[in-house]
Amino acid sequence: MTAAILVAVIFFLLATLPPRSVTLSLEGADASLAGRTARGAYHIHTKRSDGAEDKAAVAAAAARAGLTFAIFTEHGDGTTVPDPPAYVHGVLCVDGVEISTNGGHYVALDMAVAPYPLGGEAAAVVEDVARLGGFGVAAHPDHPKQALAWTDWKAPIDGLEWLNADAAWRDDKAVHLARVLFDYLLRPVPAIASTLDRPTRTLDRWAALGQSRPVVGLAAADAHGGARARDEDGGGTLIGGPSYESTFRTFSNSVVLGRPFAGDAAGDSRLLLDAVRRGHVYTVIDAIAGPAIIAVRAQAASSLGGAHVPLTIGDRATIGPAASFDVDVTGNFGERPMRRVPGTSAPQLVAPARRDEPLSEGAHFFEVAAHGAPGQPPIPWILTNPIYFLRKGEPPTDDLHFVASEAVPAAWRMETDGRSRASIAAGPQATVSYQLAPGPRASQFVALVTDLRNPGPGFTHLLFKGSASRPMRVSVQLRFLPDDRRWRKSVYLDTRPREVAVAVSDIVPADDPSANAPSAGLARSLMFVVDLVNARPGDGGEFAVADVRIAKR
Ligand SMILES: [Zn+2]
Ligand SMILES: [Zn+2]
Repeated sequence: MTAAILVAVIFFLLATLPPRSVTLSLEGADASLAGRTARGAYHIHTKRSDGAEDKAAVAAAAARAGLTFAIFTEHGDGTTVPDPPAYVHGVLCVDGVEISTNGGHYVALDMAVAPYPLGGEAAAVVEDVARLGGFGVAAHPDHPKQALAWTDWKAPIDGLEWLNADAAWRDDKAVHLARVLFDYLLRPVPAIASTLDRPTRTLDRWAALGQSRPVVGLAAADAHGGARARDEDGGGTLIGGPSYESTFRTFSNSVVLGRPFAGDAAGDSRLLLDAVRRGHVYTVIDAIAGPAIIAVRAQAASSLGGAHVPLTIGDRATIGPAASFDVDVTGNFGERPMRRVPGTSAPQLVAPARRDEPLSEGAHFFEVAAHGAPGQPPIPWILTNPIYFLRKGEPPTDDLHFVASEAVPAAWRMETDGRSRASIAAGPQATVSYQLAPGPRASQFVALVTDLRNPGPGFTHLLFKGSASRPMRVSVQLRFLPDDRRWRKSVYLDTRPREVAVAVSDIVPADDPSANAPSAGLARSLMFVVDLVNARPGDGGEFAVADVRIAKR
């Protein structure tokens, strides 16, 4: 009896395995477009952080999966010199870094080595990555672990992960995961795909951001590889993740390059990153079917001659308001390969399905659905970065007018952890020389402090002139009675003195992120703090602040 049930269960499981991936032909595709479309994986961890294999093994897995590039994103603080781009097993390997912030993980690509450890407030890291010339991507915005999900949607991020394979399975129920595990042993790629859902919230967020400025969407493998893989937050837990190769076969980023790769790693990497920065990227869920080439043309209205203008995904459309889009997907859906597969019918173009309709302002995504696609709601088969039709934005008004301001008492003193050293040079400005205590991390800090004399409720900003002997961050903090709770905002300083305005509304709690800020008017001390958020034990330097005022807008 038991054996009979077992056999029945196994037959049931075998009969209901997720469908195999469909291999498509690119016959009929625009050859020039196909030649400069590079398929690759983005967001990969190796042994250099918490992945299971080294770069060469991961590149070999990418090559087996038919990919031509791999973008590595080890956990780090931006101070590690990345490996130069290189072809390994025929795969262009490019290094980026995944930075932990207080508001989630932020991936930086194409960035200069940071002069100090990047971390702390999400907005500060976004600002630093931009200053260092990098391209920043908000990682796994849908991660079910709150500490890992991206939270700061006001920060000017350059991109976001619309899909993250490592986050996708974590919201699945245990019984489903057991099923996935069984399927994985027999059909690994469709099994991984069966954990994907359409991330509606993130797609809505992306569309909303895209109404005013281009934000690039990427599909993140977040591959840690194999049975020895560890958890994304570096906790060291063994999770036994999917292999690199099967993750790479599940979906890919198709990047439309300016020209085909030429085999020179430095030049090709430049080409790749430039195209990613422009959003010339779309995602194909290869576990459903692939490869596929998508081509978009805009058609000017007949009054303008009706000409077809080829566009690249991610472009800004500039041919005027009376135009429509024309979308071609060569895969070739609707043709032989799809029909041959039982249970699969032709995928269909769903959004925007219209043609010959005037362009509305904003971001136009193209999404191709496939019947039988996994997920609840189903994952799109193809999702593109938008074509943008944006009005010229008005320049942001940073102009701050203050109706009143008053100098804070210049009775400066230093506070430290006891082992770090600091001294103040008096004068028209307070100049601090400091050295954090070397050795292990033990909450080293130095703080330039002055007590506020009952600043009153109306103040909205802290103003000061600041500079430093080399690029660094100081944390501007307000400290409150009775328990010395601190609220803070990180500020960048370098040798060029500049005027800084810190909005009280931007100040966040130092300890408990959920705490409500007390009225700034109750703050008892103002502090300029150097601590281990953006410095290392043993780091030293000099910074100066002058003309420190509290102001009302
Ligand atoms: Zn992450
Ligand atoms: Zn990661």
